[in-house]
Amino acid sequence: MTFAATVLTLYPEMFPGPLGVSLAGRALARGDWSLEAVQIRDFATDKHRTVDDTPAGGGAGMVLKADILAAAVDSVTDHRPVLAMTPRGAPVTQARIRALADGPGAVILCGRFEGFDERLFEARPVIEQVSLGDIVLSGGEPAALALLDACIRLLPGVMGAPTSGAEESFEEGLLEYPQYTRPSIWEGRTIPEVLRSGDHAKISGWRKAMAETDTRLRRPDLWERYCGVRGRPASGARREMKDTDQ
Ligand code: SAH
Repeated sequence: MTFAATVLTLYPEMFPGPLGVSLAGRALARGDWSLEAVQIRDFATDKHRTVDDTPAGGGAGMVLKADILAAAVDSVTDHRPVLAMTPRGAPVTQARIRALADGPGAVILCGRFEGFDERLFEARPVIEQVSLGDIVLSGGEPAALALLDACIRLLPGVMGAPTSGAEESFEEGLLEYPQYTRPSIWEGRTIPEVLRSGDHAKISGWRKAMAETDTRLRRPDLWERYCGVRGRPASGARREMKDTDQ
C-alpha cells in the first residue's frame, strides 16, 4: 500500500521541496509514497480569488475563510486522516507519526497569516488540529514537510536497516543514548571504553543507562511519564540519581 499525502496549501510550489531529495526523494521516485499539493485558492469563488479576510473583533493580520477551507477539505473524498497544522493543536508525538505511517496516508491543511476561522473545526470535526511544538511558524508548510518526513522514513523499505527506527529517541519513551564514531581519539577525547569492548550485553546496558540519565536531565517531562508507565525509575538511572544525591 502506498502512503498517499495530500497537502492543501496556498504555496504548492513548496512541495515536494526537501522531500524530493535523499531518502524521502528516492522513496517518492520509487512510488513508496505519493504526494499531491492542492492550491487552496482554487476553491475561492469570487473574481479576486479571495481566501482570507480581516479578523472579527479587530487585530493584526488576516484569517483564512472557513467556506474556502471547507471546500478544499471536502474536495478530498477518501477516508485518510485530515490534519490541520496549527500551534493551537495537540503537539505531534512519535506514536501519532507511527500510527499515520501505518495507515493509508494523510491530508494536511496548511495555514498562513493569522490562521483558520475556528468554525471550520466546529463544522468539520474530523479535522485533527496538530502542532509541531511550542513555536510559531509563518505557515503550515514547513510543519507539513516535517510531519511527512517523519512518516516517510518509517515506511517499509525506506530506511536502510529495518531496526534503526526501533531504538531511537521517543520510541521507548526515552531520548536515544549518545552516539560516537571514528576516530577513537578526537581533540584528546576518547570514545567511551565500553563501546570498544565488543561486549554486546555491556554495551546495551550502558546505552540504556545513558538513555535514562539523559532523559531525566534533559527532558523531565518525558522522564516523569516514563517512570509513571514503568511504575518506578529504571535501575541505571536510579543508581545515578543516588550518586548525585550523596
Ligand atoms: N496566529 C496564530 C499563528 C498563525 S501562524 C496563533 O498564534 O496561533 C500561521 C500558520 O502557520 C498557522 O495557521 C499554521 O498553519 C502554521 N503554524 C505556525 N506554527 C505552527 C506550529 N507550531 N505547528 C504547526 N503549524 C504551525
